[in-house]
Amino acid sequence: MPLIARQLCSGALLILAATAATAARAPAVQPTLWADRPDVAAFETLENRRLDAARHAVGRLLAVRGPRTIANTLVPYDRAIQQLNSAYYFAQLMLQVHPDAAFRDHATAMTTKASGEATTLSLNHKVYAALARLDVSRADAATRYYVERTLLEFRLAGVNKDDATRAKLKTLQDQLTTEQSTFDRNISDDVRTVIVSDPAELDGLPPDYIDAHKPGADGRIRITTTYPDYGPVTSFAKSDRLRRELYDAFQSRAYPKNGDVLREMMQTRFEIAQLLGYDSWADYNAADKMIGNGRHIAAFIEQLGQTSRPLADRELAMLLAEKRKADPGATAVVSYEYRRLTELVRRSQFDFDSQSVRPYFPYERVKDGILRTAASLFHVSFRQEAGAPGWDPMVETWDVIENGRMIGRFYLDMHPRPGKYSHAEMAAVLDGIRGVQLPEAVLVCNFPAPTATDPGLMTFGDVTTFFHEFGHLVHHILGGRQRWAGIAGISMEADFAEAPSQMLERFIASPQVLASFARHYQTGEVIPADLVARMNRATAFGRASWVAFQTSYAAMSYDVYKAAPQSVDLEAMTLADTRRFSGLVTVPSDAQVFAAFGHLAGYSSMYYTYMWDLVIAADFFQQFDQADLLAGETPMRYRRVVLEPGGSMSANDLVKNFLGRPQSLQAFEEWMGEEFTRDGTSARPRSP
Ligand SMILES: [Zn+2]
Repeated sequence: MPLIARQLCSGALLILAATAATAARAPAVQPTLWADRPDVAAFETLENRRLDAARHAVGRLLAVRGPRTIANTLVPYDRAIQQLNSAYYFAQLMLQVHPDAAFRDHATAMTTKASGEATTLSLNHKVYAALARLDVSRADAATRYYVERTLLEFRLAGVNKDDATRAKLKTLQDQLTTEQSTFDRNISDDVRTVIVSDPAELDGLPPDYIDAHKPGADGRIRITTTYPDYGPVTSFAKSDRLRRELYDAFQSRAYPKNGDVLREMMQTRFEIAQLLGYDSWADYNAADKMIGNGRHIAAFIEQLGQTSRPLADRELAMLLAEKRKADPGATAVVSYEYRRLTELVRRSQFDFDSQSVRPYFPYERVKDGILRTAASLFHVSFRQEAGAPGWDPMVETWDVIENGRMIGRFYLDMHPRPGKYSHAEMAAVLDGIRGVQLPEAVLVCNFPAPTATDPGLMTFGDVTTFFHEFGHLVHHILGGRQRWAGIAGISMEADFAEAPSQMLERFIASPQVLASFARHYQTGEVIPADLVARMNRATAFGRASWVAFQTSYAAMSYDVYKAAPQSVDLEAMTLADTRRFSGLVTVPSDAQVFAAFGHLAGYSSMYYTYMWDLVIAADFFQQFDQADLLAGETPMRYRRVVLEPGGSMSANDLVKNFLGRPQSLQAFEEWMGEEFTRDGTSARPRSP
C-alpha cells in the first residue's frame, strides 16, 4: 500500500492525514472554500503553496539533530499530512465538480501531483526511522495510537526493509498496479451481446426499455451485458431463454482471459505478503483493519453463512412456490431465475409500487427533513451562509453550529450538470484540527433539481442515499476536533467507514422520521403509515438471500487470497462457494464469474467489509429507543463515543465503548427477517 489512502463509499479518497499541534489559533472566521473565486492560476498557486509547505515540514523533521520529540518530529510530520490532504482534497473535488473542462484538466494533473507527493512521503524510510525513534510513552492515548498506526502503515509498505527488499517490493507493486488495471479493463471491454429474433421475447419489460431496443435493419434486437440492458431483462423478461442466455453472457465476461490475469495477481500479492512477513495476502491486507487477520475473515464468513441460511431458505421457498405457479413440477430455484422470481414475489405478495411514494419526496422538503433530523439527532444546528460564492451557482454553503459556536462547514452540490461526477459521495475539504482549522466537507450528488413545473420528486432510494452520504459528512465534521490531522474525521480502519452511514439508512426508513417531513407535494398529506409499512416489508423481502449471495462473494474474495496461489482451482472454488452460500442450483457459467468480479482487483480479500459494517450498523441502531429514535441520551452518547473520537482509537474500541461488548449478529439477523416479523397490519404477507 504505497499511498496511504482509503476509499469512502462511492469513491471519495481520503488520504490518511497526520497532524499539526502548533499553537496557532483558528481564525475567527475561516474563509469559505470559494471565497476568493479562484481561477486556474490562483488554484494552482494555492495548491503548490500547500505542497511546498508539506515538503518544507518534512525537511524540518529530517534536519533535526539530537533527541526526537513530539515537537520536532510528530508536529512537522502531521503538518505535512495536513497540507498534503488539503491539496489532494481540493484538487480531487475540482476535477469532479468544476463546471469548466479546462479547470478540471488542471485539477486532474494536480491530483496526480499531490498523490505522488503523498506516496513519496509514505515510502520515506528516513521519516519512518525518525518516527520510530520517538518516545511517546508519556503522550496522550490518541497521540500514542497515532504514532503506532503510522508506523504500522510504514511497515506494511515495507519502508523498514533493506534497500534490496524495498526495490523488489517496488517492482511487485508496479506489477500489481498493471495487473489490477488489466483485470478491470478486461471486464469493462468485454461487452457481450444476445440476439433476439422475436420481439415477443421482450414481453414483461417496461415500455421505455422496449422502445429503446427496436429491431435493427436485419430485424434482430441486440441486448448487451451492460448494466442498463442486463438488469431489467433478468428482473422482468418473461422469456426464460433470453434471461438464461443473457445471464450466461454476463457471468462469462472476461472469461477465460482474466483467469490468467487473476492467477498472476494472486502470485504477485502472495510474494508481497511473504516479503513483509505474512503467510498470505489475506493476513497482510487485514493487518491494519478491524478484523485483524485472515482467520477472523473466515470465521465471520462462517457466521454470516449460518445466520442467513434459515431466513434465506425461507425466502427461497417462496421463490420456489412462485416458480411452481407456472411449472408445478419444479423442485429448485436456479441461479439465473433468482432476480425474476424475487420481483414476482415482491409484486404478488407485498403490494408495493415504488413509484407510489415519490410524490411525498420533493427535493426541497427532503433536504429540509434530512437537515432537521440530523440536527436533532446530533444536537447541532445548521445555518446557511446566504450569498457565499460557490464553484457553481447551485452550490450552497452551510455552517454547523453548536451552542452558538461554529464547529464546521459543509457545501451541498446536489443536482446534475454536464461534466460533473455522476454518482453520490461525501468529499472531505479540510481535516478538523483543534485550534488550527475547522473541518469542512462537500456532498456531491445528482438528485433531480426542482423546476417551475416539477418539484424534483425523489425515489426512496435517492432519499436513502442523501441521508447515507450526509452521515459520512456529519462523521467527518463531528470527528474533526482532533489534535492531529492524521486522526481527524473518518480516518480509522477502512472496514468501519460505512457503518455509521449504514445505520442512518435505518433512521430514514422509520415511520416516525418519515412522517416528520414526507408530505404529498400537491395535497400536503403526511405519508401514510400503511404505505411506509408496505414499502419497508417489500424492501426487506429478499434481504436474507441477498446476504447469502454477498456471503458467497465474500468467501470467493477470501478464498482467492487466503493461501499460496498454487493451491487454488478458481473454477472449482467459485462454484463451491456459490453453491454453499447462495443456496441456489448453479449453471456452468456460475463457475466463471470470478473473471468478472472486479472487486478481486481493488478490494481483493476485503469484500467482507460491506456485510461487516451492516452487522455493526444493525447493532448500533438497536441501541436507540425504537419507540422514539431521537429521544433519550442514546443519540448524544453515540455522537460522543462513536463519532467524535474520529480515528484517535481503533474502531474495535469505538464499537465496544458504545455497545459495552463487541458487535454481535443478533440485530442483523432480525433486520434480515423484517418482512416476516413486522407485526401489525393486514398487509402482512403469509409465509409459504
Ligand atoms: Zn457510504
